[in-house]
Amino acid sequence: MAKLETPCPCGSNKTYVLCCGRYLDGAEIPPDAEALMRSRYTAYTLLREDYLLKTWHVSARPEQLGLTAEASSKWLGLQVKRHEQQDDTHALVEFVARYKIGGRAHRLHEVSRFVHEDRRWFYVDGEVT
Ligand SMILES: [Zn+2]
Repeated sequence: MAKLETPCPCGSNKTYVLCCGRYLDGAEIPPDAEALMRSRYTAYTLLREDYLLKTWHVSARPEQLGLTAEASSKWLGLQVKRHEQQDDTHALVEFVARYKIGGRAHRLHEVSRFVHEDRRWFYVDGEVT
């Protein structure tokens, strides 16, 4: 994985290394809630539970996710619909993620809440619409 030309799973049309890889494998911090949301989607596809927990706000963070290999292959794509910066420390990101279970395609349409704390963004929770 993480070959230079590998397309980023988040669907940005950039390569993984120049997109979410900077946050998952590098020392960079996502500059806004949308970048964090995209990198978290990519983390789900790569089973990067460490990254998902690290970017989850402590108020809502689960102890573990128990991601499995089956869970990684099910993700088909991400579409970010809206990124709304509400104030300096709160943002919403609305997205549709497509995935497959048992050969059937499904859509997850969610509005996620993010907070900015200690100079970085964290995922708090989401509402499925
Ligand atoms: Zn990406």
